[in-house]
Amino acid sequence: MKNKKSLCVYCGSCGETNPAHREAAEQLGDLLAKNSIRLVYGGGDIGLMGILANAVLNAGGEVIGVLPRFLEDWEVEHKGLSQLIIVESMHARKQKMFELSDAFAVLPGGYGTLEELLEVLTWKQLKLHNKPVMVVDTDGYWQPLRALFEHIIQSGYADEDSSAYLTYVEKIESILSVLDKIPEDTQRPNAEKL
Ligand code: AMP
Repeated sequence: MKNKKSLCVYCGSCGETNPAHREAAEQLGDLLAKNSIRLVYGGGDIGLMGILANAVLNAGGEVIGVLPRFLEDWEVEHKGLSQLIIVESMHARKQKMFELSDAFAVLPGGYGTLEELLEVLTWKQLKLHNKPVMVVDTDGYWQPLRALFEHIIQSGYADEDSSAYLTYVEKIESILSVLDKIPEDTQRPNAEKL
């Protein structure tokens, strides 16, 4: 399982999707499958999440979904994944997604996506891991967030060095060069401290 790299992607679950964001999710899914990179994600078949998972599967790739049991009741889960892991809570889900992944990427999304991004970022700040975190910003959707993060740093609420915790990616292919730099024996998380 560990020899193949895994990318965890956080993205929106809303039904209506901007065509540029849909295209970014499709391109990313295709890229992952063609480069034998496993997708780890929230397990839904809705919004950008579903578009991304289907793009990986349609191109012959591998997808692991991690879903909390209560969302299974909402019937939002993708029924055709390579593997669907059901966990007991949202916290267990985020920890499982974290443990399974070598790096993280964020596509456009809402509150849930932001929450997931901020958690891996906070864990990085606390030196619980040093895995790459990428914000995929093909059309400027995340520029207000970038401005907010810069404002936080300029105001002294985050260290200057923290700007290096994130890589902003404008072209989907750039994700590959970030993943290529991850050593095969990726540093394991301090999972017991999360
Ligand atoms: P949001 O950006 O608010 O749409 O939330 C999307 C993120 O939160 C995804 O990366 C998922 O891991 C998680 N999530 C939120 N809502 C759902 C849902 N209905 N089904 C599956 N995952 C969800």
